Amino acid sequence: MDQQKPPPDGTRRQIAARPEILYKIFAPTTSLAGVGRHVADRLEKLCGKRVMDVIFHLPNNGIDRQLAANIAAAPTDRPTLLAVTIIAHHPPSAPKRPWKVIVSDNTGFLNLTYFVPKPEYLREMLPVGQQRLISGQIEHYMGERQMPHPELVAPTSELAQHVGFHPIYPLTAGLSGKILGKIVERGLAVMPELPEWFDDAFLREQNWPSFNAALTGLHHAKSLADLQPESPARQRLAHDEITAVTLGLAVTRAWLRRRPGLGLAATGDKTSKIRANLPFQLTHDQEQAISEIAADMGLPRPMLRLLQGDVGSGKTVVALMAMAVAAENGTQSALLAPTELLTRQHFHNLAKLAGPHLRIAILTAREKGRERAAILEKINNGEIDIVVGTQALFNDELQFAQLGLVIIDEQHRFGVEQRLALSQKNQQSGKAIDILVMTATPIPRSLALTLYGDLDMSQLRGKPAGRRPITTAALPLERIDEIVAALQRATARGERAYWVCPLVEESELAEITAATLRYQFLQKIFGLRVGLVHGRLRPQERDQVMQQFASQELDILVATTVIEVGVDVPDATIMVIEHAERFGLTQLHQLRGRVGRGSKPSHCLLLYQTPLGPMARQRIAALRQSEDGFFLSEEDLRLRGAGELMGTKQSGFAEFRFVDMRVHQHLFPIAAQQVAAILQRDPELTSPQGLNLRYLLYLFERDAAVRYLSSG
Ligand code: ADP
Ligand code: MG
Repeated sequence: MDQQKPPPDGTRRQIAARPEILYKIFAPTTSLAGVGRHVADRLEKLCGKRVMDVIFHLPNNGIDRQLAANIAAAPTDRPTLLAVTIIAHHPPSAPKRPWKVIVSDNTGFLNLTYFVPKPEYLREMLPVGQQRLISGQIEHYMGERQMPHPELVAPTSELAQHVGFHPIYPLTAGLSGKILGKIVERGLAVMPELPEWFDDAFLREQNWPSFNAALTGLHHAKSLADLQPESPARQRLAHDEITAVTLGLAVTRAWLRRRPGLGLAATGDKTSKIRANLPFQLTHDQEQAISEIAADMGLPRPMLRLLQGDVGSGKTVVALMAMAVAAENGTQSALLAPTELLTRQHFHNLAKLAGPHLRIAILTAREKGRERAAILEKINNGEIDIVVGTQALFNDELQFAQLGLVIIDEQHRFGVEQRLALSQKNQQSGKAIDILVMTATPIPRSLALTLYGDLDMSQLRGKPAGRRPITTAALPLERIDEIVAALQRATARGERAYWVCPLVEESELAEITAATLRYQFLQKIFGLRVGLVHGRLRPQERDQVMQQFASQELDILVATTVIEVGVDVPDATIMVIEHAERFGLTQLHQLRGRVGRGSKPSHCLLLYQTPLGPMARQRIAALRQSEDGFFLSEEDLRLRGAGELMGTKQSGFAEFRFVDMRVHQHLFPIAAQQVAAILQRDPELTSPQGLNLRYLLYLFERDAAVRYLSSG
C-alpha cells in the first residue's frame, strides 16, 4: 500500500496529519451503511461517534448455544438451543403477569414467557403451527418448564448460523446485539491492514497476533476464553494501548524539555506574606510539596511535576504558593480546571487565601462581552497575576503579558499530554513554562510511570489537622429505613447529606431512573429540601442544584455518580452510597472523600444488596479499615479478583479501553522499557519501526505527540 511508505524527505508535515488509510475508521459512524441518525445516537451513547469507537467496542461475554435433542432432554443449568413448534399464545391473565407462548416437540411442552409492554408482535414473531429455533435458559416454575425471554428466535433453516459460541456486546437501550453486530462487521471491513509496530521477536515470544488479527479475533471470539483479559488478543491490544500512552507522553515530555525553563526563584516577597495570613497551619506534606515545587521552579529547566493528593488533602494552597513564586518573578500563572463549577470554587478559595497579595481573575464561558474584554486586557497588560479558567481558557483571544506557570487540575483524568502541550501555547520568550499537574487519584507507582511518564512527583499523604475520621458503616439495603431515620435526625441538627445512586454500567438511563425514583422517595419524607443531579442535566442546571446544596437551600443531594469529585461542601457530613457493591474501591473512596471536610464528625453509609460477594465484601472491609487513598488504590488493584468482570467505569481507570489493571499490570514496565529503547535509537520516530509506531499513536489518539515529532 502506497500510504505506508515513509514519505520522502522534506514532507515531514505530511506525517503529522492523520494518515489517509485511517480516515475511514475515524469517520463518523454514519459513514457506514445502515447507520442513520437514530442508530448513530445510540452508538454514541454506547461507545462513541466514530467507526473506530465501534470496532474498539469489544464483546465482554458470550453465549454458547448447544443444540438440545428435544425439550425433554434440554438442560436447565445452562442456555440451550431448541427447535420447537408453536402451539398457542396466552395473553397475560392479570396485570404484571407475563405473555405466554406455548411451544412443544414430541417430547413435551415449554412456556416461553415475556414481560413486555406491547406483546402483540409476538404473535407474528412466533406464528402458531410453525417451527422456530429458540435459545435461552430453561427453568422449572410451578411444575412447568419455562424459558423467560428467549435471547434468540430464528427460522430453523438458520441453524448452522446460530449454533455454537456467539460473543455478546455491552449494549444500550434501543440498540440490539444483532444490529450492533452488523455495524461492527461493516466497521471491521473498512479497518485497514496496518504495518506491525512491535518487534517480530517480541511478538513471537509472547505468541501474540497482529493488531488487526487481535481485534477481528475478539469480535469473532470462539469461546469465552478468547475474551478473557488473559487471552493473547486482549494482551496484545492492552500492550498496544499502554505503549501508545507511554510513547505519547515520552515524546511530549522530550519536546517540552527541549527548551530552557524560566528559572523562577522564590524571593519570599509574596509567599511569606500569604503564608503569614493563612487561616491554618500547613501540614508537613504541604510544606514539603511547596518546597519541592519552589526548588524545581528555580531550576533553569522547565518544571514538569505532578502533585498527588486525595480529595481534601489541601492541594489548592500548595498551588497558590507556587503561583505566588511565579508572581515574585513578575510572571503570571494560569490554573486550568475541568469544569466551570470547580473553576469558580478554585477562584473563591484562592482569592480568600491570597488576600490582597495577588491579583486573581476568573475566565470561563460565562464571562462575556465588556467584562470579558476587560479581563483579557488586564491579563495582557500584566495587571493580573493568576487566571483561573476552564480549559477553553487557552484559545487565541487570550494573550499573557508573561506566562510563567500553568497548573492543571486533572481531578480524575489521565492522559495529560494534550493539556501539557496546550500550556506551551502562550509561551513567547523561547523558554518553556513550568507545569504542575494536580490529581486527586492516588495511583500505584507502577502505573504512575505510564500515566504520567517520569514527571516529578510531590505527594500529600497526610490530611490537614482537625479533620475528624469518617465513620464508615455497611448495611444491607433492606435496612434503608434506619438510614432514613438517621438522616431525619441529622438534617434536624442542620447537617447535610449526599445520596449516591447505583452505578449501572450498561445504561446511563437506568442510572438516572434509579436516582429519580430515590429522589421522589426522599422528597416524600423530606419535602422540597431534596435536590437531584445527574448526567443529563445541562451543566448550568447541575451547577445550580450544586450551588443550592452548598448554600444550604437543600439538605439532601441525590446524585448519580456524576457528582463532581472536587466540589467542596465542607459542612456536608453524610454520604450514603446505594448498591455500594457495584462500585470499585477507588471510586468508593473518592465518593466518601466528599464528606469529612469540616470539623463535625462525618459518616459514610454503604448500602449493599445481599448476598454480598466475596470481593465486594473485601472492598467494603478495606474501605472501613482505611482512609488513605494510596493504600486503597493498591488494594483496589489487588482485589480486582479473578472471575469478577468489572466494567471500566468502576475500575477507576476509565481512560483505558483495553487494559485490565489486574491482568495487564506486568505490561506497564515492559512498555516503558521498549519505549525508552526506541526513543533512544530513534527519538524522532523516523525509522521504519518509528514510522509504524506513529500509526499506533494515531490509533490511540496521541496525535499531539506526533505533532511534536515533526515540529522538531
Ligand atoms: P483538595 O486537595 O481536594 O484540592 P483543598 O485544597 O480544596 O483540597 O482543601 C480542602 C479544604 O481544606 C479547604 O477548605 C482548605 O481550605 C482546607 N485546608 C487546606 N490545607 C489545610 C490545613 N493545612 N489545615 C487546615 N485546613 C486546610
Ligand atoms: Mg481541589
